[in-house]
Amino acid sequence: MSFSFEVRERIDGAPGRTGVIHTPHGDIETPAFIAVGTKATVKAVLPESVAELGAQAVLANAYHLYLQPGSDIVDEAGGLGRFMNWPGPTFTDSGGFQVMSLGAGFKKVLAMDTAGLQDDDVIADGKTRRAHVDEDGVTFVSHINGDLHRFTPEVSMRIQHELGADIMFAFDELTTLMNTRDYQESSVERTHRWAERCLAEHRRLTAARADKPYQALFGVVQGAQYEDLRRGAARGLAELDVEGQSFDGFGIGGALEKSMVGEITGWVVDELPEDKPRHMLGLSEPDDFFAAIEMGGDTFDCVNPSRVARNAAIYTAEGRYNVNTAPHRRSFIPLEEDCDCYTCAHYTRAYLHHLFKAKEMLASTLATIHNERFTVRLVDNIRAAIRSGDFHAYRDEFLGRFYAAR
Ligand SMILES: [Zn+2]
Repeated sequence: MSFSFEVRERIDGAPGRTGVIHTPHGDIETPAFIAVGTKATVKAVLPESVAELGAQAVLANAYHLYLQPGSDIVDEAGGLGRFMNWPGPTFTDSGGFQVMSLGAGFKKVLAMDTAGLQDDDVIADGKTRRAHVDEDGVTFVSHINGDLHRFTPEVSMRIQHELGADIMFAFDELTTLMNTRDYQESSVERTHRWAERCLAEHRRLTAARADKPYQALFGVVQGAQYEDLRRGAARGLAELDVEGQSFDGFGIGGALEKSMVGEITGWVVDELPEDKPRHMLGLSEPDDFFAAIEMGGDTFDCVNPSRVARNAAIYTAEGRYNVNTAPHRRSFIPLEEDCDCYTCAHYTRAYLHHLFKAKEMLASTLATIHNERFTVRLVDNIRAAIRSGDFHAYRDEFLGRFYAAR
């Protein structure tokens, strides 16, 4: 078994730490931001560029690759990394998020305005429910062609073993902040039963595919904004053991109210073993990184940096701006002064402004390289600050500058 994790330095007076995740395809120094390549591509950017901008690993999505091209094809290609020409470590998420979020028709599950609403059957305007959860799994309609499919813990494990990523996630039920407390409770219990089935199937598939590199499996802690549910879910997953097979790490998932990112991470981390890595799904804003890392988060992924880049939104140490707006038409300076990315070394805001206005594809490529580099570098710098004992000073300085304009 060639998966392991070691803790290195710690933040004074907090659970946060640096560490190294060892995988069959290389090491990940943590904390680390993991680039999202949903369909086995970080949209608009060559895998070579993703490596050059410093991303240590890529995360793809089991739901999307199962529907297209099919996980059996990725398996035949030699696994996700080989298929997409990414030699480093890879992650796949379980598909649960997409099954539930695309299926139920929510526009944006993590960032929606709940406004105190609590209803287990809310769907976005103009959409119909496309996913149905039962005790055994989820039946859903493909967003591509309307075909009916079914995911169960066993199906998700088979798909993820075929995709061959170094780190996989147990199949969980995604709830939203809109769900009632009763529903969150029964969902956490169901996710625990599914986690147990994932471990059993993972154990079976690992033995059946003993010629392949070991794939690590992370359990996913749900429980929304409720402390007792989060703690109970984390403790339950940490204790799970199916004939000697336990989780190699943990994901912290589900609806996170922005103001509670640090607090929820703290509850969960408090219940999880110290010697296993923790991945947080869907964080991308600088203040969220600092809050989560301080409380013990190790790795993070989010589509946001590349998604907003394709809409001309540019991250800088001084905050975010839109390069397609009038002030940048004659701005012959880089997207961000002092940025070390390929885009900033060779191109100007005026050129990017022109590419976006002319709807040229290169606009997305160049903007994505910058935003991904910004995010990777931020988390790298936080890691360096923990090592040198300067976490809090770096946090105050960075966030003061980033949010000063607001
Ligand atoms: Zn740049």
